[in-house]
Amino acid sequence: MSTTLQSPIEYLKGVGPQRGEVMRKELEIETFGDLLKYYPFRYVDRSEIHKIRDINHHTQYVQLKGTLSNFRYAGEKQGKRLMATFTDGTGELDLVWFKSGDWVMKTLQVKTEYIVFGKPNAFNGDFNIVHPEVEVASEAIARDGGKGLQPVYPTTEKAKKKNLDTRGIAKLTRVLVDLLRERDLPEFLPKEIVQQYKLCSRFEAMVNIHYPKTESALHEAQRRLKFEELFLIQLQILKVKANRGQTSKGYYFEKIDNKFDKFYKEHLKFELTGAQKRVLKEIRMDTRTGKQMNRLLQGDVGSGKTVVALLTMLMAIDNGYQACMMAPTEILANQHFEGISEMLKGMGLEVALLTGSVKGKTRKYVLEGLASGTIDIVVGTHALIEETVVFKNLGLVVIDEQHRFGVAQRAKLWTKNELPPHILVMTATPIPRTLAMTIYGDLDVSVIDELPPGRKPIRTVHRTDADRMRVFGFMKEEIAKGRQIYVVYPLIEESEALDLKHLMDGYESLSRAFPKPQYQLSMVHGRMRPPDKDYEMQRFVKNETQIMIATTVIEVGVNVPNASVMIIENSERFGLSQLHQLRGRVGRGAEQSFCILMTGDKLSDTSKQRVSVMCATNDGFVIAEEDLKLRGPGDLEGTRQSGAVNLRLADLVADANILEAARRSASTLIDKDPGLEQPEHQALLVFLQSNPKNTGWAKIS
Ligand code: ADP
Ligand code: MG
Repeated sequence: MSTTLQSPIEYLKGVGPQRGEVMRKELEIETFGDLLKYYPFRYVDRSEIHKIRDINHHTQYVQLKGTLSNFRYAGEKQGKRLMATFTDGTGELDLVWFKSGDWVMKTLQVKTEYIVFGKPNAFNGDFNIVHPEVEVASEAIARDGGKGLQPVYPTTEKAKKKNLDTRGIAKLTRVLVDLLRERDLPEFLPKEIVQQYKLCSRFEAMVNIHYPKTESALHEAQRRLKFEELFLIQLQILKVKANRGQTSKGYYFEKIDNKFDKFYKEHLKFELTGAQKRVLKEIRMDTRTGKQMNRLLQGDVGSGKTVVALLTMLMAIDNGYQACMMAPTEILANQHFEGISEMLKGMGLEVALLTGSVKGKTRKYVLEGLASGTIDIVVGTHALIEETVVFKNLGLVVIDEQHRFGVAQRAKLWTKNELPPHILVMTATPIPRTLAMTIYGDLDVSVIDELPPGRKPIRTVHRTDADRMRVFGFMKEEIAKGRQIYVVYPLIEESEALDLKHLMDGYESLSRAFPKPQYQLSMVHGRMRPPDKDYEMQRFVKNETQIMIATTVIEVGVNVPNASVMIIENSERFGLSQLHQLRGRVGRGAEQSFCILMTGDKLSDTSKQRVSVMCATNDGFVIAEEDLKLRGPGDLEGTRQSGAVNLRLADLVADANILEAARRSASTLIDKDPGLEQPEHQALLVFLQSNPKNTGWAKIS
């Protein structure tokens, strides 16, 4: 390792202690190496100047050359902003600053020619640019001869005040890049891989990512660095997986006879789909190897994951073990408990429920039964993880709707046994393949990609407030046919009080439109006490009420086949995968089901796109891919905590090919040389061990 890259940032020429402090605090740059990895997020071709005249609604970013005049303040308080008129001889537009107006006033001058860079917004029939990058034209041209690609760096308002705007940062990366020598950035990828994918060297890549001479040099630099980034993550994931395979012994489920056979032949009311059979085979293969199973079961809402889980639990029981199933909410746990008890009626098995609401004698009875082994299956919530819960011989844990459980919570279940139980994690949030490889790369993945036969696709439409009377009319028609209806409101913590008010208002207006005794309404929200929630839910399940008004507490898993209409209020505020989850609550019976997405009149482009995706497809995987594209992986449900998606360069959507290649290479390498002991992997091992923070290598090996 070179000492240069580990040098504290203040020692770089042009930094010093003060700016060094700001770089640490604001930009998280502590060393020369950190600055080198502070990649530009865009490049500007300084040779290309646009004309104001040519700007239209599709214009993304423009670079303009012209002069400023008419500096003025407008608006008040939050809306207060500095504005200036910018003209280039072909037209004019406003530049707008909401922040640092006084400072901008001081630095910019009338009559000086500037280069202005930014994204034009349509505003009152004109265009403006908010917080543009502005640079004196003669300086910009002197700096780079007006040619070539210039890096644009992300920065913050505070950093800008210390002259660490994009130009300030560029000056520093220039100094650093000029200082660098080939030996400072030795190659660590195995030769074979470099050759196979024709990757440029690390040194070349680092120079060209900041100062590319050409588009193609930039492209090659990005390709190399993205590959490297993804390769290191995959290596880490696969190493964890390989280690577990070697060390984690699991229970043998040798037999499937007795209960499994009996249930399959006598109790199962339908033929399993091909996909369900395939997944059961995969599980069967896992559980007879003597290693611990860690399997993720993905299947769209309504694809029939529960029965697969149930059959797997019967495998455990046939081999003398207990099984447990964990659900994220009490409502769901209750429903699974009832469903499973019902399906297993007459099988001679003891099924128990354990949630926070199970108390007193009943709780004591369940705890004793689990410890002594008289209870075969327990269904529950987080309550199952508590210290007081002891199993005689837990062989299988099924976790439903996995994204609600943290990894740490899962791990707690492991400790309930000498050997870790087999784990089956079920999720109805389809995860795009690329993301699954990154987040759940250490799990084996099974997919149920087929719905039970006879399902009618749900019809989804978009309606606005103006259509409300029509929607009420439609609801009445459906209720007259004997159907039930969900009306769902968003509720997020940040605006909880207001959201609850919307829910209450909605409840009142529905109560007026659907008066008793002809109509009965239920309401459920997160602020209610669990027993009240449960009571309201049960009334709806039993078809005593026709309309269920709820917040997203019903999002996951609830099964009321007679409910055939899902109305989602303020649907523009939900993410795609959440909308899909909600919609999945209907379409479970034989009837035609409907989903009505209610929105206001004005929608942002992203909201429009979300709504139109929902109206166009019922396919959860398509929706997940779209969600990933619209929001980026960092915002996807359940992935926020996962460090694996904090990628600097690579993009799990756009770079899926590079990810596949990186995964293949990492996998081949781990198979061949898991300890990286061979001489040709020496450089890689040294790199991993000297960067344990980023690679997790030291703690694993
Ligand atoms: P999810 O995958 O969303 O958990 P469920 O397991 O709740 O789905 O199944 C949805 C419904 O489909 C249940 O009522 C279940 O009994 C039914 N079902 C499951 N598998 C089949 C099948 N192969 N044929 C017919 N119905 C099925
Ligand atoms: Mg389910």
